Amino acid sequence: MIEKVLVANRGEIALRVIRACREMGIRSVAVHSTADADAMHVRMADESVCIGPAPSTDSYLSIPAIIAACEITGAQAIHPGYGFLSENANFVQIIEDHDLIFIGPTAEHIRVMGDKITAKETMINLGVPVVPGSTGGVATLEDAKRIGEEIGYPVIIKATAGGGGKGMKVAQNAAEMEKAFQTARAEGKSNFGNDEVYIEKYLTTPRHIEIQVFGDGKGNAVHLGERDCSLQRRHQKVFEEAPGPSITAEERAKIGKVCADAVANINYIGAGTIEFLYENGEFYFIEMNTRLQVEHPVTEAIFGVDLVREQIRVAEGLPMSFTQDDLQINGHAIEVRINAEKLPNFSPCPGKITQFHAPGGLGVRMDSALYDGYSIPPYYDSLIGKLIVHGRDRPEALARLNRALGELIVDGIDTTVPLFHALLAEEDIQTGGYNIHWLEHWLETHFGEA
Ligand code: ADP
Repeated sequence: MIEKVLVANRGEIALRVIRACREMGIRSVAVHSTADADAMHVRMADESVCIGPAPSTDSYLSIPAIIAACEITGAQAIHPGYGFLSENANFVQIIEDHDLIFIGPTAEHIRVMGDKITAKETMINLGVPVVPGSTGGVATLEDAKRIGEEIGYPVIIKATAGGGGKGMKVAQNAAEMEKAFQTARAEGKSNFGNDEVYIEKYLTTPRHIEIQVFGDGKGNAVHLGERDCSLQRRHQKVFEEAPGPSITAEERAKIGKVCADAVANINYIGAGTIEFLYENGEFYFIEMNTRLQVEHPVTEAIFGVDLVREQIRVAEGLPMSFTQDDLQINGHAIEVRINAEKLPNFSPCPGKITQFHAPGGLGVRMDSALYDGYSIPPYYDSLIGKLIVHGRDRPEALARLNRALGELIVDGIDTTVPLFHALLAEEDIQTGGYNIHWLEHWLETHFGEA
């Protein structure tokens, strides 16, 4: 049995994991950089270890420092959260070599899904529908142009190692191909050390629909429905909801089964997300994330399950605590990502929080590591909190979101809260009538952002 878990992360997700551990009677170890000595995750964990200086390459991404912290504290398992080392197959391999437990999938599954070309090939073989495009990598501009003609413009050129919205470029026509192709390759090389790219049809009005899956590593797997994450800025999600306003129960059951069967087939262990674009009633696979997602709380809200607890259970070799039949949707949930960013340019805005008050009441969950007097360091991601609301139906969830946003106080810095107030006043948000391009267009009209 796991008695002590080291949380290799910071911020709200570190708190999220520490809370699950505490409820399970498991001790938690926080790791932190020198810049995070006063951070909430350090205060909340049972023990803490400083693992290096402020830059994450020297601390939260330092594998030797994290392994040493496990040895010093006697932690038997590591939860990676999201971001940082959560999808680093080499890290998982080293953890296994040290006879420690990684709370997440195997190094092999992370490797396969981390390369988008291999991931797509694997999904095709598992019977999952994909976006039409090149078979495998595209090496030359001539090939890229030929494929552009074959599948028809617009197309999107994607770095196989890409992530976080980086390494993707759209070509509207043949004339734009050269620049898009070279830029996607260059971004792949500079951000991920790999310039291999592939090409997909660029869908013009899709929604981003992702299916939450969960496996026990022994051939059993379930799905926990979908999340609609179509509201994005620069391919980054800002607002997520479950269930998806456009998805019917029949569609959910069908695509959910395809996904659950696919991961059962490969003996997948733990939480995973299979991401699709959804257009005209069809699902097209784009990528799989082999970790807990930022937006997992909306799924937890409507199914009433604790996904981190399940991750720890299966990592211990226990079965999942639910079957597919146990998983029934209850109501509607919405999450908004609160970033320390200044509108209209979304420029990072770290600084001292002079006053913080989290909203509360029925159906409100605030996952945040903020506290009065806390100074947000400038070194890390700008996500400072997630506000999740749950209601009996979508209108109730929207009204609750509006009410909770009104209660939230984050003084001393700028945040993305005003964006959500403005979005809630939009009819398309109230009706759920948006797609992946809606927010970019809206920002252009309201803030003059391109
Ligand atoms: P990342 O790994 O960087 O998150 P994804 O492949 O998950 O990249 O894509 C992120 C977002 O980019 C999608 O949610 C969607 O908005 C957009 N996108 C990706 N592929 C396509 C496509 N073929 N057509 C239109 N939009 C796309």
